[in-house]
Amino acid sequence: MPEKLHPTCTKCAKLACSPAIGIDAEPAFDEAPSFCPMALFPDLVSDVVREYDRPEVKEFARLASMQEFECYERTDQGIRTKFPRIEELVQFAAKCGYKRLGLAFCLGLRREAQMLTEILENKGFEIASVCCKSGAVAKDRIGVTPDQHIGGPDSWESMCNPIVQAEVLNTEGVDLAIMLGLCIGHDTLFIKYCRVPVTVLAVKDRVTGHNPLAALYLSRSPYYRRLLAKE
Ligand code: SF4
Repeated sequence: MPEKLHPTCTKCAKLACSPAIGIDAEPAFDEAPSFCPMALFPDLVSDVVREYDRPEVKEFARLASMQEFECYERTDQGIRTKFPRIEELVQFAAKCGYKRLGLAFCLGLRREAQMLTEILENKGFEIASVCCKSGAVAKDRIGVTPDQHIGGPDSWESMCNPIVQAEVLNTEGVDLAIMLGLCIGHDTLFIKYCRVPVTVLAVKDRVTGHNPLAALYLSRSPYYRRLLAKE
């Protein structure tokens, strides 16, 4: 029996989804590889694209594309980029007409959260912020044993509580929730429970200054070659 194909865009050399053609030409979908999601799920793709016909979704997607567009400039030297993500966050929130922003941050990035709050308030937004330890619930509530405490078995440790972070921001009715430095897994729970629009300013990476791609870029150097070792 032939092996079932799964979408595998990372192995695509055709890029039929982003063809280099003129504005009046039509993309040639038959050039897509057999593992292309457009080839595997043609009905799903055309059905789902209709979602953009909903006026609020269409407008949100349009504003996101405007934001993307404004981040580049065409110069004699080629296309240049213009804004760091923090400025994009300010610009996009303003484009969307958002007034109240929610900040779900990690206690370990409290100083960064304070700096971000100052920047956002100076740009005219109201900020509601919730630290990951909100609730002050002991880690044993979720089955963490004292010998698994980061600070040692004799110390109290509050668990990270992304569900409380999400529900407080839901209750506050913020226009947009911003994740800042939540741990892997805790971020997953936050996204699962957050019912307002959510974006990420930064993810937690304790080693690289919260820049996980630094280790990726170094994975072909001696320093992080272990990432490529087969297991
Ligand atoms: S969507 Fe299809 S054409 Fe585009 S990268 Fe994925 S496999 Fe390639």
